Amino acid sequence: MRPISFEKMISWVVRELKEKGSIFGIQKTKFYSNNSGNYVELFGEKLASPVGPAAGPNSQLTQNIVAAYLTGCRFIELKTIQKLDGEDLPVSKPCIFAQDEGYNVEWSTELRVQDAYNEYVKAWFLLHVLMKELKLSEKRDFMFNMSVGYDLEGIKSPKIDAYIEGMRNASNTEIWNECRETLISNMHLFTHFTKEDIDGISPVICPSITLSTLHGCPPQEIERISNYFLKEKNLHTFVKMNPTLLGEKFVRETLDMMGYDYIALNGHHFIHDLQFSDGVAMLERLKTVGKELNLEVGVKLTNTLPVKILNQELPGEEMYMSGRSLYALSISLASKLAKEFNGDLNISYSGGIDFFNIDKVLDVGIGPITFATTILKPGGYERITQMAKKVEGQLKGEFTGIDIAKLEMLVKDALADKHHLKELRPVNSRKLSSKLPIFDCAIAPCTIGCPINQQIPQYVALVGEEKYDEAFSIIVNDNTSPAITGSICDHHCQYKCTRLDYDESVLIRHMKKIAVLYAQDKYIASSKPAKVRSHKKVAIVGAGAAGLATAMFLRRNGMEVTVMDKKEKPYGIVEYVIPEFRISKDMIRKDLELVKSQGVEFKLGMDENFSVSELKKNYDYVVVAIGAWKPGQISLKEGREKTINAISFLENYKARNGEVSLGKHVCIIGGGNVAMDAARAVKRVSGVESTSIVYRRTKQFMPADQEEIKLALEEGIIFKELLSPSAYTHGKLVCEEMMLGKRDASGRRSPVPTGNMTSLNADTIIVAVGEQVDGELLSGNGIELDSKGFPKTNAACETSIPGVYVAGDVKKGPASIVKAIADGKAVAKDILERESLSADFEKRVLIIDEEALYDKKGILKDPICGEKEAIRCFSCENICELCVDVCPNRANIVIYVEEGFDSTHQIIHLDGMCNECGNCGIFCPHDGNPYKDKVTVFWSKEDFNDSTNKGFVVVDIEKGICMVRNEDGVALEYTIGQEDIVSKEMANVIVNCMNKYSYML
Ligand code: SF4
Ligand code: SF4
Ligand code: SF4
Repeated sequence: MRPISFEKMISWVVRELKEKGSIFGIQKTKFYSNNSGNYVELFGEKLASPVGPAAGPNSQLTQNIVAAYLTGCRFIELKTIQKLDGEDLPVSKPCIFAQDEGYNVEWSTELRVQDAYNEYVKAWFLLHVLMKELKLSEKRDFMFNMSVGYDLEGIKSPKIDAYIEGMRNASNTEIWNECRETLISNMHLFTHFTKEDIDGISPVICPSITLSTLHGCPPQEIERISNYFLKEKNLHTFVKMNPTLLGEKFVRETLDMMGYDYIALNGHHFIHDLQFSDGVAMLERLKTVGKELNLEVGVKLTNTLPVKILNQELPGEEMYMSGRSLYALSISLASKLAKEFNGDLNISYSGGIDFFNIDKVLDVGIGPITFATTILKPGGYERITQMAKKVEGQLKGEFTGIDIAKLEMLVKDALADKHHLKELRPVNSRKLSSKLPIFDCAIAPCTIGCPINQQIPQYVALVGEEKYDEAFSIIVNDNTSPAITGSICDHHCQYKCTRLDYDESVLIRHMKKIAVLYAQDKYIASSKPAKVRSHKKVAIVGAGAAGLATAMFLRRNGMEVTVMDKKEKPYGIVEYVIPEFRISKDMIRKDLELVKSQGVEFKLGMDENFSVSELKKNYDYVVVAIGAWKPGQISLKEGREKTINAISFLENYKARNGEVSLGKHVCIIGGGNVAMDAARAVKRVSGVESTSIVYRRTKQFMPADQEEIKLALEEGIIFKELLSPSAYTHGKLVCEEMMLGKRDASGRRSPVPTGNMTSLNADTIIVAVGEQVDGELLSGNGIELDSKGFPKTNAACETSIPGVYVAGDVKKGPASIVKAIADGKAVAKDILERESLSADFEKRVLIIDEEALYDKKGILKDPICGEKEAIRCFSCENICELCVDVCPNRANIVIYVEEGFDSTHQIIHLDGMCNECGNCGIFCPHDGNPYKDKVTVFWSKEDFNDSTNKGFVVVDIEKGICMVRNEDGVALEYTIGQEDIVSKEMANVIVNCMNKYSYML
């Protein structure tokens, strides 16, 4: 990480704005200006917005502060400085993990104190320039606040004292003069910024200070330092306080209630940190001192919460928690303290702020408000514009105290508001298994995450435009069960959606259902069977989702297909087992008619003991898609014979329209989707008083979809967690109590027996522990099995018998409908290829409005159940640039290339601006790290030699000479125009950077 000189910065900002319409990647459309005339008053100054970056990654470098200011920050809390600085400060890398709630292992600035100071002064000047040049405000409407730590001795050291004095008045510093002179000699670059404006820049950079102390700092020390700032330095003083003031019990219970039960606290901090009563007494004394000196005293709430590193989220043993899991804690502490002071307390607030709650916090009289985690996520700094605009109407001059009653309500709401609860995000990482390519990396993660790679951004956009027929024709291109998957798909796509890092996934499945409801019947009515293009015939055994998918894909591409099944009706599990409250008869009918409309032939009610060799006599290909219906086994010491299999129960339940008899108390053993279906069905059976799901781990580790678990909970199903059934006797299910142990190979925490026994009332036990594949039937037909009893297959699902395939649950045990369709697609593609028949899986190109897509960046929005949901889709395969959004240092840049690539947008990484925080690696959807894997621009040969990144350093721009590390990691010298030295793509990027982006070289 290398600071940029003021001279270079000025030229960069001016040129980027003129040539690209952005500054450090922040689009002009996101520049914020408060035109309402509203303001807040702080320390006697007017601020156009009470929001800003919290001391941290977003206020370390000049460009970070500029980005924050442009998007709406007017209270800039500069990154903390302390005596220990630069290379002497041990900061492990990566240091930020903001996948959901945030964590970090960084603390004060990584620069030398002098360099940090220079960054802040440069930013001070640059903000004045931009304010005038961009006509954002007539007068200074922003404020800097310095943050200093950690003990009085360090604070009094000459280095830190010089820093504080320089902030109180910068006029005699070297950097002040350098900035002034640079501006004076570059006045020709500006239109609205004048020489008078330079003279009008106040050398008083910070009239206020925030004291940051380390965990365990004695209360007397905190008070001494605060008194020092007030009495000796004449500074308005905020004292940063920790969530540990709430006590371990409260913190633990709050986190557990919100679903963050996996967060491991470090108990000793609660004992050794400042205690609440001491804190209150100290604040009372400090407020008296402040009043005497006519200075404001307040608290900064809160610091991050120290927690244990258990899963290698970051290096080390302890990390600091922030973000949405911190909100309820910080706001609770605010309330507790405000009550002590009867509302007469200045609170500078930070802790889990985002677009959804910022107005509510401000409304109770708290402010200024700072944040970090939210702007480390996709949208980045551009999220600030939306927040600043949202609160504009609430700015009412001076802060006049806190409304305690309102604040108390906010504390209650914090625990119920979905935006703070863990369950809002149903997955951890969104990452795909694809390797991050050096060029052309943008993808739609939903499409890649979908087993049948549906063209999601395309059909979501068309549904948004109410072009249902077009949308449906795209859906049906890849999906043979649109109505069923539009209703009950386990939507792998939604677990990869970029919006998960904003708020919630786009309601992709719902958008599909809208298209289905408007267009499927019409599509069926106008469908005709395709012409037969081959004399070869295909037999498909099993009319479930896999068999029907294979049939439809093959038939519509010209093959003759016959589907056989032992049942009288097609669609297997969906038709016979999945309850009607989950999938209606009409939706199944739609999909069946769709298959029939393509000309697929059916033979139903067949003998279940099929013979592959017999079929091979009449058919050229045989596809076995018989599902996995064999009941799963549970080991009970006693009473196993009295249990009911979940699939049999559900089949019976559906056939009898729920008219079954189960007794009063029913236990369902298992934690998958079948268990949820069974439990919800049981709940509807008359006479049942209690329905319990018995599972040996906790809900968090159940294999069922979060959505299914949520529905079960909402319907009143009791979850008996950490119980392992051991016997069923005399109407009781006897279970051993378990506890969670270490993570096992599946990544879930394993159940560990405790030896304690308990029993549950159970008139009926339903076992839902995973159905099995009928291996005997397969091996009896000559199909080889692997060691787990599954058929051996290649990537196209072909078995050990040539021309014989397996598809769906029979391949690897119970999976999902969409995975069954994926198998059908793979089989169909393989057969079509062998028969030299073209397949119709074509990709539609979406015409997009780039400007509209950029406008969506940084805008948080809850899902909408309807066509308008399309606005929430980012069309990620056209514009991704998440690495650009989330970089606090603006070290990833998009460059525009005219030709030579699939996309005109390519990503460049600027080595000199990167501090290897790792944030871009968290959010890039590929398996990779943009800061290591993308073309890297170095600012010096030394940095080039120190790195292994592929990329280049310009040695002589006039002559076009550079050092390049190519895609194979080989370093070589290259002069523009030379052929065959570097790849065409690398040469193209280098030329583009030199010609159009020289300001960043
Ligand atoms: S935002 Fe749209 S394109 Fe991106 S992953 Fe989500 S649905 Fe797909
Ligand atoms: S490029 Fe990535 S690793 Fe480097 S500073 Fe930016 S976000 Fe952090
Ligand atoms: S995050 Fe960046 S590097 Fe990763 S796919 Fe998106 S644009 Fe490419």
